[in-house]
Amino acid sequence: MTTSNSPDVDVLIVGLGPTGLISALALAQQGLSVRGLTRWHWLANSPRAHITNQRAMEVYRDLGIEEDATKQGTPWDLMGDTPVAVSMAGEEIARIQTWGTGYLRRGDYVQASPCPLLDIPQPYIEPVILNAAAHAGAKFMFNTEYLSYTELDDRVVVACRDEITGHEYEVSARYLIGADGAGSQIAEQLELAMHGHMARAGQAYIRFRGDLSAYLDTRPSVLNWFVNPAGAFGEIGLGSLRNVRPWDDWMCGFGFDMSKGELKMSNEEATQKVRAIVGDPTFDPEIVDIMIWYVNQQYASEYGRGRVFCGGDAVHRHPPSSGLGLNTCVQDAHNLAWKIAYHLKGYAGSGLVDTYTAERAPVGKQIVERANQSRLDYQRLRDALAVPGSKDPAADGLAKVKAPTPEGAAARKALREALELKDYEFNAEGVELNQRYASDAVIVDADAQPEVFVRDPQLFVQATTRPGAKLPHAWLVGKNKKKISTLDVVGKGRFTLLTGLSGTKWAAAAERLNLPFLQVVVIDTPGAQDLYANWQRVREIDEAGALLVRPDGFVAWRQSQDESTVDEAEAALRDVLARILDRPDMRGRSH
Ligand SMILES: Cc1cc2nc3c(=O)[nH]c(=O)nc-3n(C[C@H](O)[C@H](O)[C@H](O)COP(=O)(O)OP(=O)(O)OC[C@H]3O[C@@H](n4cnc5c(N)ncnc54)[C@H](O)[C@@H]3O)c2cc1C
Repeated sequence: MTTSNSPDVDVLIVGLGPTGLISALALAQQGLSVRGLTRWHWLANSPRAHITNQRAMEVYRDLGIEEDATKQGTPWDLMGDTPVAVSMAGEEIARIQTWGTGYLRRGDYVQASPCPLLDIPQPYIEPVILNAAAHAGAKFMFNTEYLSYTELDDRVVVACRDEITGHEYEVSARYLIGADGAGSQIAEQLELAMHGHMARAGQAYIRFRGDLSAYLDTRPSVLNWFVNPAGAFGEIGLGSLRNVRPWDDWMCGFGFDMSKGELKMSNEEATQKVRAIVGDPTFDPEIVDIMIWYVNQQYASEYGRGRVFCGGDAVHRHPPSSGLGLNTCVQDAHNLAWKIAYHLKGYAGSGLVDTYTAERAPVGKQIVERANQSRLDYQRLRDALAVPGSKDPAADGLAKVKAPTPEGAAARKALREALELKDYEFNAEGVELNQRYASDAVIVDADAQPEVFVRDPQLFVQATTRPGAKLPHAWLVGKNKKKISTLDVVGKGRFTLLTGLSGTKWAAAAERLNLPFLQVVVIDTPGAQDLYANWQRVREIDEAGALLVRPDGFVAWRQSQDESTVDEAEAALRDVLARILDRPDMRGRSH
């Protein structure tokens, strides 16, 4: 069924968490009319996600909010000298250099991306994104409950309720994005196939204020682990102190036995728990909140269809271990937004939007499995410290790994191995940056062989220009002799044809196409000079070859050499764009 009038907006977004907000920003920057709604009166009201990985930072950079985010966050240098100790004040068992801050890994991280990691809790990043999205023209409705949707041929009609007045009304949109979190009604109404299960373990956070800077000045870390009876329950079996603001705003985390029902805790009990984990009976925390949450292990194998698509926790639900939640939400939104925008602007067919599931669902499955495995991997650490029959496991475990005996040496070796396994949680740059998309929006090389990873693909980034991979970062020299990344010359909502000085046919053909969404960047011309010869090292094609980079920074297609004529180059470009954009008509069209 169709109706004669236009829909109210191009895109309606239900949910203003990271998924909804990034969707709103990216779509508004594309010039679409966007409306976002949330049932709450404001954005995130608890710290929740905080670790922001390099890929999410690259998305922020592309959307122009990296600088504002960085001003609000705790810098990379303060994130990762992470102790495993009996308490914050007590003896240390080990330290893990986390989030790439360690001397063994820092170089990998610096090489792979122009963006350092950042620790920025959700209540600080969400207003940054909202502000930018509103400036770009997105409109937002708070205190608004989503009720249901009806999909028609040319639109989606969404029923909402104003939570203040009780008034019920409808909003129509060309597309609906379900960014409504782990309890997504939209994913349910879409009947997206879900795999796994929810609420398999119980976790609690006590939010408190109190100055712990004395312990952090020499070993700054936003996450601190404690082998302590106060945090011993559950598959992690450690207490944690997670920083919100250096170093006087904290969350004290621990597992609880959910078979006994939901944890109830008085402020006095919370104070005692915090004192035990801090290791100072005189410490006087100001208890702000006690939060209960459950460990989920669930992902969707389809992210939407027709005019309705979901992203973020609506389609992947998992614990915070590995810090992948918000980061994956941001990338889902960044992937979906340009596809919807290109379709609505007439640049692409609807088949482009359908590639969203093929590209993002495998990533969602991978991160759900990774985050849950990261919790299970703590078993090795507990085994290394275990003393059978002990009445005081924390003290005895410490004594075991400090013993000047062959058994002590064996325990220390087991401890080191257990800590190395934690690299898959805390130094897994490959999990964060090695995504490879396979879909109709990517054209694999004609002679493509399966990719061989030379190092562990979970831990280490493998930079490549293979179609489906993220464009490698290399420092170039831009205008005014300023250092810029290859990532800075692509993106911003456009396709980019990247070639070198000798790729003259490609450059001429792309110029001749004169498409509003395609720019040409010739490396080594003013504004993009490869003075460090870094690009030459990573580009994997001849200088005269071409790379077609999508608006989200992923390589769509590459050709190793120049064509012999501009006409041939133009025909080749038309063909690949027609395939990628689901626009068969582009093949013959002359501009
Ligand atoms: C304790 C904790 C720690 C975490 N740590 C990290 C971390 O370090 N790094 C990381 O990347 N991730 C972390 N996460 C995960 C991260 O918080 C989530 O992945 C992220 O918030 C999900 O974003 P989202 O936008 O998909 O959904 P949400 O943030 O859950 O937002 C859902 C939105 O939908 C709205 N909504 C839902 N239903 C309706 C309705 N019917 N009507 C109107 N509005 C509705 C809500 O109001 C809200 O605006 C953590 C999570 C928790 C709980």
